[in-house]
Amino acid sequence: MEASLNAIETAIFGFGDLLAVFALGLLLVELLWLWRRRRLGKDRWLEMLTSFGTLVPSIAAELLLAASWVAAYLFVQALAPWQIPTTVWTAVLAVILVDLAYYWEHRLSHQIRLLWAVAHSVHHSSPHFNQATAYRISFMDQFISPIFYLPVVALGFDPLLVLAAFVLILSYQTWLHTEMIGRLGWLDRVFNTPSNHRVHHGADAGYLDRNYGAVLMVWDRLFGTYRAEAETPVYGLTRPLNSKNPLKVHFHEAGFLLRDLRAAGSLGEALGLLFRRPGWTPRRRPAPSPASRG
Ligand SMILES: [Zn+2]
Ligand SMILES: [Zn+2]
Repeated sequence: MEASLNAIETAIFGFGDLLAVFALGLLLVELLWLWRRRRLGKDRWLEMLTSFGTLVPSIAAELLLAASWVAAYLFVQALAPWQIPTTVWTAVLAVILVDLAYYWEHRLSHQIRLLWAVAHSVHHSSPHFNQATAYRISFMDQFISPIFYLPVVALGFDPLLVLAAFVLILSYQTWLHTEMIGRLGWLDRVFNTPSNHRVHHGADAGYLDRNYGAVLMVWDRLFGTYRAEAETPVYGLTRPLNSKNPLKVHFHEAGFLLRDLRAAGSLGEALGLLFRRPGWTPRRRPAPSPASRG
């Protein structure tokens, strides 16, 4: 079934737009839900504002870097040994591969302290879990994230199709950030759902490093990182941020990493602190501050 690239991309971007409208509606319904339960206090409002505020530097970084990433993607496309024609079926395959690439981007963002500290910990730093949390992202993601999808372009998929698939899987994740929707039966076993993503945002020991998938939970089941929701999670970082200051929101974990690097006794220790898991400390010395996880 041949279809023009434009038609398929328009369809995917259009579906992403629909998801965005759905997310906006959900945000309003959730606000009402929280208000009726008297959980919409000043702290929650300020926390939501803090989360939305992270979009400002993020969009600025995106605009700044757009031309460089377009050049990088076109460069890798030219290196691909063949070009895969865009049809409905190859578009579906591209979405699945981008979803898989996201799993690894997300998993490495949790398991390599440098990525965790400078970028992804920001998304996990709120003690609340609601629709606004979905928008709480680090501007550093704009520097790091596109690297993970270059392999899909190297396989011969059109860069614009890869971008459309990425927008789709990002848009999908907005509705996951809510306590309003409970467990959803078999859907929880196959797809990422609010229940699965609550586990991902839990700072509880049993919930750390679980449920990395964007759309499909199949990757977590395949690679052994799936965990179903049992007890209600405690959200946020294992060492709480306790601040709404934008600078602290963005550099809380990076500051701890810098402090530990200064105390490193050798290049090996410094490399360990940068590239091993958050929480790793060199053996021979008194432990520096363990990094937060979430
Ligand atoms: Zn995460
Ligand atoms: Zn999230």
